[in-house]
Amino acid sequence: MPRFCAALLFLLAFPVHAAQLSAERVVDAVYAIIGPLGQRSPDNDGLNANFGFVVTAQGVILIDSGASRLGAQKIAAAIAQVTDQPVRWVINTGSQDHRWLGNAYFASQGAELIALTRSAATQAEFSAQQMRTLAGFLGARLDGTQPLPATTRLAGDEACLTLGGESVCLRYTDAHFPGDAWVWLPKRSVIFSGDLIYVDRLLGVLPWSSVKKGQAAFHALEALQPKYIVPGHGAVSDLAKARRESGDYEDFLANTIGGAARDMESIAVTLDKYADLPQFKHLHNYTELHRANMNRAFVEFESAP
Ligand SMILES: [Zn+2]
Repeated sequence: MPRFCAALLFLLAFPVHAAQLSAERVVDAVYAIIGPLGQRSPDNDGLNANFGFVVTAQGVILIDSGASRLGAQKIAAAIAQVTDQPVRWVINTGSQDHRWLGNAYFASQGAELIALTRSAATQAEFSAQQMRTLAGFLGARLDGTQPLPATTRLAGDEACLTLGGESVCLRYTDAHFPGDAWVWLPKRSVIFSGDLIYVDRLLGVLPWSSVKKGQAAFHALEALQPKYIVPGHGAVSDLAKARRESGDYEDFLANTIGGAARDMESIAVTLDKYADLPQFKHLHNYTELHRANMNRAFVEFESAP
């Protein structure tokens, strides 16, 4: 096939207007990459979530690798806007598609893939299901994506590592997916919360999420008093906003809905009673998710009060 023809086909298959990402400085050499709030699409390459990175004297530490090979390349391009340093480490905060399906791309560029043991195990467990679902959203733009769970697996419930003088501490949150974790930078007072915290968008409770663990993890995060929070979804925020938009909602689900389940109240009556919550109504996805979230919280507390 003539070369110009191949190039044309490439452009048709991968339109150049596909949304790019940019890095935003949080503090010092810590950056956030804030993805859009909506659903996964060919245009956003499944990067409807947040990522981040730290530039150190010995290379870049990337937090989460995106949902596909092309998505990982967009993240790499956002990093390249800021530094020429190579990505040395990829740390995964969890096992949802956009947290780790770009791992293989960064490994091919020489990065080490790091996660807590249970995060890596959950990645392996959910990978086939996630690739199927993503194929529906991304179509041909998923081509070339190889699910590669983290290969450096850290034992224990918490672990701290240092690269180029920058300490990063992982700790389980187990909220959105089992084995989810946060990444805490004590020196910078920055936390990458993973899917423990959503702002601007209502957090989602999935069949495998735990409201009980999410609530406990949020309280543990508050005790750290981080100055900057890079949430799983939504803008970089302070602790007060994270408290209002995620912490208060976790408390509501655990205390009010969980309390109704413990008191053996009717699930239908409970869901109707709390259908309308003015303090969370402005958040994206409220209409779509709130009732199902309450339902899953109720069931969690009913089966393990
Ligand atoms: Zn997410």
